[in-house]
Amino acid sequence: MRKINTRDFHVATRTTSREINRRIAFNLIREHQPISRADLARRMNVTRGVASVLVQELIEQGLIYEGATGETARGRKPTFLHIRTQDRLAIAVDVRFSKTYLMLSDFSGRQLALEIYDTIFTIPEFIKDLAARVRRMLKTRGFEGRCEGIGVAVPGMVDQRTGRILNAPALGWRDVEIRDKLAAMTNLPVQLENSARACSLAHMWLERDEAQASVQNFVYVNVSDGVGVGVVVNGELVRGHNHIAGEFGHMPLSLDGPRCLCGMTGCWEAYISNLATLSRYFGWNLSKLSPKSLRDSRNNSFTVPDLIARARSSGDAKADTAIQMSARFLGLGLGTIVNVLDPDCIYLAGEITTAWDLIEDTVREALRERALTIAAAQTPLRVASTHEHLRLRGAAALIAAPTFAAPRVA
Ligand SMILES: [Zn+2]
Repeated sequence: MRKINTRDFHVATRTTSREINRRIAFNLIREHQPISRADLARRMNVTRGVASVLVQELIEQGLIYEGATGETARGRKPTFLHIRTQDRLAIAVDVRFSKTYLMLSDFSGRQLALEIYDTIFTIPEFIKDLAARVRRMLKTRGFEGRCEGIGVAVPGMVDQRTGRILNAPALGWRDVEIRDKLAAMTNLPVQLENSARACSLAHMWLERDEAQASVQNFVYVNVSDGVGVGVVVNGELVRGHNHIAGEFGHMPLSLDGPRCLCGMTGCWEAYISNLATLSRYFGWNLSKLSPKSLRDSRNNSFTVPDLIARARSSGDAKADTAIQMSARFLGLGLGTIVNVLDPDCIYLAGEITTAWDLIEDTVREALRERALTIAAAQTPLRVASTHEHLRLRGAAALIAAPTFAAPRVA
């Protein structure tokens, strides 16, 4: 039951119901492609004629296409419908504390070109350099004029409406403007979003796992250089009044805990980020490192996957302990998320999840410890996906996803 906001609403018009049915058809095709008109009509519980009209409109809008002809025992052979993603292009940018990743992709998130380079922390130079790279990437591949936009995922809090980065502690960016300047320099629409939220969008719109299609309430936790969390309720990203909803990475586990990049102490992120896990192994004291030296530590070539490899192959007990401690803190934080939001499911992503076989028991045990009921303790935890560049897929989804979303009414 949702309350209608009488100060901000969209009145349904004669075309609204048609538009909603078109989006329903479009999303069913996305989930079940390749799919015939007859099958679509069955799934929509409408007549073949109604489905055909909707399909025709979607074809005319350039959103779907007819592919190969199928086989059938008798009668007319059906043609299969597909979502048009292969020839629709987006540029995806994943800005991280360590590196910036730039990908040319199609609307399904498939990688067509990739560049990785050291992140530039000064804003005007960052924008100028990025704009030049985007132009070059499109030009050398002959895709000038064909790209539909640039999606930028950043590790921080973003006001998606104004395109301002409110606070990205890892990058040292506070209240800065990127979107409009980048748009002006590339002549392309730019969408900016927090990286974990972008991943949540990609999870909703680009993944094709049928078991996940019905999950409308979930939390997406990305453990990497920092900890990003995307919260989806009723199929919609929760942004909050001041655009910082879901910043569980900065909930305190202990007030006298290690220093976090945000300036406070004891944040969940300071216990489980890649840097925290590595610090445990190498005996670094995070509280004594200045933000600059924390940033410089990105140049350390030893990574969490290296640590996991040590724990696995050489039986390095210290490596295993460092990983298990992060796993325990991960589970404790997930316990709080479960108690606060009670989602259908939690998706986990980031380097440490590649050791899921080693850490699952520890994470679940810690979650059980904190969860307030037995049922809550059993909230499914799933490793998000094995795609190598999840955050880039998230950034691509910023451009592709609006095509799939339901029109707003009431
Ligand atoms: Zn913090």
